[in-house]
Amino acid sequence: MRRTRLLLPTLRETPADAEAPSHVLLVRAGFVRPVAAGVFTALPLGVRTLRRIETIVREEMDAAGAQELRMPIVVPADPWKRTGRWEAYGEEMFKLRDRAGRELGLAPTHEEVVTLLAGAELRSYRDLPANLYQIGWKYRDEVRPRFGLLRGREFLMKDAYSFDRDEEGLRRSYEAMRAAYRRIFRRCGVEVREVEADAGLIGGQVNHEFLAPAGVGEDLFVRCDACGHAADLEAAAVGGLGAGAAPGPVAATGQPVPGAAPLVEVQTPGCATIEALSAFLGVPAERTLKCMLYDAGGAPVAVLLPGDREVDERALARALGREVRPFTAQEFEAHGLVKGYVGPQGVPEGIDVLADPAVAAGLDWVAGGNQPDVHATGVAPGRDFRIDRVLRVARVRDGDPCPACGGPLAIARGIVVGHVYQLGARYAEALGATFLDEDGAERHHVMGCYGVGISRVMAAAAEQHHDEAGLRWPRALAPFDVLVLPTNMDDPDVLRTAGELEAGLAAAGLDVLLDDRLVAAGVKFADADLIGVPVQVVAGRRGLSAGAVDLKVRATGERAQAPVGETVAAAVRALAAAP
Ligand code: ATP
Ligand code: MG
Repeated sequence: MRRTRLLLPTLRETPADAEAPSHVLLVRAGFVRPVAAGVFTALPLGVRTLRRIETIVREEMDAAGAQELRMPIVVPADPWKRTGRWEAYGEEMFKLRDRAGRELGLAPTHEEVVTLLAGAELRSYRDLPANLYQIGWKYRDEVRPRFGLLRGREFLMKDAYSFDRDEEGLRRSYEAMRAAYRRIFRRCGVEVREVEADAGLIGGQVNHEFLAPAGVGEDLFVRCDACGHAADLEAAAVGGLGAGAAPGPVAATGQPVPGAAPLVEVQTPGCATIEALSAFLGVPAERTLKCMLYDAGGAPVAVLLPGDREVDERALARALGREVRPFTAQEFEAHGLVKGYVGPQGVPEGIDVLADPAVAAGLDWVAGGNQPDVHATGVAPGRDFRIDRVLRVARVRDGDPCPACGGPLAIARGIVVGHVYQLGARYAEALGATFLDEDGAERHHVMGCYGVGISRVMAAAAEQHHDEAGLRWPRALAPFDVLVLPTNMDDPDVLRTAGELEAGLAAAGLDVLLDDRLVAAGVKFADADLIGVPVQVVAGRRGLSAGAVDLKVRATGERAQAPVGETVAAAVRALAAAP
């Protein structure tokens, strides 16, 4: 391919309103152009890279036994209403009407369409298991389309749906997809962490996210570098204690506790916050006891945790299996509690007391005194207050112990590039998708669904692989394998050699771009680094006079010279060794 025949407009300046490095670079390097918020045209280079990702994904899906379909973008509202998602998706779904007034939507995902297909076509246990996938455009009217391709309103996704006879089959299909995903991201050269994700309030389905660590990532996760454990923040908070490790409830006995100081009330005027209290009494925040009150699905709960910790409300909701919201002023009043001065010793019967393990293990807390401007010191669990349940719902912090090995956890940011879910039978039940089992019984299909954000992978790869000069594509995703740069366009020798190299590299099976523009060498070099093709071959007058060309590996900056006759072999080797 000749650069003068290619629509490859590069830009010097950073485009306005592009914040993420991938967004800036994919526009500057001529991969995409914006059309509307979260909507892009892919230019030829963008198409090439997207196609390479698609090819890897397609090969791995096919190898895992999945079959490719193509489902429509425009979908009828009715099945979405039957699953409740017409409402649940709300404004995130683009909705329209046809000329007869029928309601339609642009599909943000395809569970409804594929479940109806399975109900119609996968009628016998002999048809199962089946895994159906497609690669296509998805539409979501995201609240905040941002970071270019990372969060678009139109984006390319691979979505796969597995259908099994039972839960055991689902688990097998699920594991096969997880394994395929690991191969996909490894082959793409995108580093990922596989994270056990929020199971959601309803259903508690198992699901895992594949997170590409990157500074612009919108998802926080925790990782332990000692043992490789990774989890999303809420899962880390809830799972942190490990099954069976939690102490049981503690009754308030009023009996002395060995080693505990007596409870003493102290005047603390205007100390309604932990900071004020800690400064006033000169005690560190972690020795004060925070008592947070919530309405949890209609039932009041008090959450006790050290004053330097925050409640992870999503983790709390998940642990309780109910929605939670903080108490209103009226609720504090109705329960006879003084906001800012609640201590667990004054929490009335009828409010469940949930305590962080650190609270249960402590002896000598500084807590609210249950009247304005009063706190109590020497507050001890068991003697002064009860604990109905020990629960770890404090937000995880850097350095907290890893639940798997005790090593220090680190909080990191990642981009969700893939997500796998065990859905179970709820779509099949809502849409009446059944098959006949061996014993003649009609059963619902048991489903899993599996997504890879193809266009997001392109951006995530750009986030992970770039420097100040531009993109540094991993070999597998680069739009071309080799870029040939003739630097003296007025020299017939240079032009002839560049042409021969182009032909030789192509004959060796490489995708070659020849920069045949009549521009200064410096411009070509800058563009070459910006576009990020893995191997650059520079043919210049000076080198050729000694019979040599220069090679540069973009990712490492390594340079080498090769005799003209050995350039093709050297480029093939350099590419094979490139990241
Ligand atoms: P997110 O939490 O980022 O909104 P999601 O849970 O809504 O993701 P899924 O419905 O699981 O995403 O979609 C499958 C995959 O599609 C995601 O893992 C992600 O890679 C990709 N994806 C989702 N939304 C977008 C988007 N707006 N732009 C680009 N890719 C997206
Ligand atoms: Mg989303």
